[in-house]
Amino acid sequence: MRILVANLGSTSFKYRLFLMDEHGGEVLAKGGYERVEDHGTVIEDALSKLQSEGHIADLSEIDAVAFKTVLGKNLSGCVIADEAAIQALEDFTAVAPAHNPPYAAGIRQFAKILPKATRVALFETAFYQWATPAGQVYALPKAWRDIGIRRYGFHGASHKFIAERSAELCDREDVADGVRRLYLDGPKPIAGKPLRVISCHLGGSSSVTGILNGVAIGTSMGFSPQSGLPQNNRVGDLDSGAIPYAMRTLGISLDEAERQLTKQAGLLGLSGISNDIRDVNAAASQGNADAQLAIDALVHSIRHWIGAFQLELGGLDALVFTAGIGENGPGLRAAVCHGLENFGIMLDPSKNSACLATEATISDGDSLARILVIPANEELVLAREVFRKLSYQKN
Ligand code: ADP
Repeated sequence: MRILVANLGSTSFKYRLFLMDEHGGEVLAKGGYERVEDHGTVIEDALSKLQSEGHIADLSEIDAVAFKTVLGKNLSGCVIADEAAIQALEDFTAVAPAHNPPYAAGIRQFAKILPKATRVALFETAFYQWATPAGQVYALPKAWRDIGIRRYGFHGASHKFIAERSAELCDREDVADGVRRLYLDGPKPIAGKPLRVISCHLGGSSSVTGILNGVAIGTSMGFSPQSGLPQNNRVGDLDSGAIPYAMRTLGISLDEAERQLTKQAGLLGLSGISNDIRDVNAAASQGNADAQLAIDALVHSIRHWIGAFQLELGGLDALVFTAGIGENGPGLRAAVCHGLENFGIMLDPSKNSACLATEATISDGDSLARILVIPANEELVLAREVFRKLSYQKN
């Protein structure tokens, strides 16, 4: 099955064409465009390139197009990207203004150009649909809850991939099999010992997710990707009382407050240097106290969520690091694990420092929990989920 993964950023378009079967997948072609003003033109260009470069002879060879949609109103999961899905995206444009409009437009355009290809949306919120009601709610008046304000959670594709791969690495084929079928069948009961995993997706934006037997019990992000850990430019969790106070005291508008909290906060806001942890690390190692504070605040928040989920999970079998910072940051991983021996988390310092962007176990042999680094590959995750959905539907 040929699946085209379409990654529609607010100003970019990236694509990968996969050839998928039940054993896995291979990338047939990939490409991308930056500083995109009109997604329509670049989508057409990408599709004609796929033909002129000889990856496909005809557009009809593309069986499906996969979209990593962020969130929709009253809709989640891995679903056919039909008009109802587009409507769900448009109903939440105000919550994800950079992400939802390009996806709504992109899905419509692919429907025109590739009418025979099945369009599938994998929502980033999908992995959290089985969290308990208490874990999904904010203590808000009913009218606020009625307009859809609750904890959703994001990075679902990445954390679900970690749920599956960590189960394989922990020799729990029963759990891994359940994760593979999760969006098709829902959670299935697991006999025997529970598998308790905490997944740390640390990248340009970051989140920590608790996973029990392959199913998320909760995550650090809530209503929008603005919440949880400090992000590159975004504040992360913030007391709701701070916004009216800052607006009144600094004399700024709501739009300006929102702009500062999404563009000038996070690692950039605290360090005053950069939104990229490599620059922040370099400054901290030269004694810049603000840069060190930014790193410490990120580590503090990661540990906060690890502690919360370890308690809720009733222990921990695997702690996983993934995404740009998680895969490439031995110093940050060491800081996160520092002093956690009594909680069964013990890093092997030399394995940790040797591990850069590869899959590895970096825990000490005596650690009760395995500490794993698992590289993220979100495009492959999408291609896999779509392959599973469509193969299942045909049977
Ligand atoms: P996203 O997809 O959310 O943008 P990524 O997973 O690509 O995030 O991670 C990007 C971030 O990873 C960068 O902002 C950078 O801080 C960090 N990063 C990338 N490479 C390295 C590296 N070699 N060392 C440390 N951090 C890195």
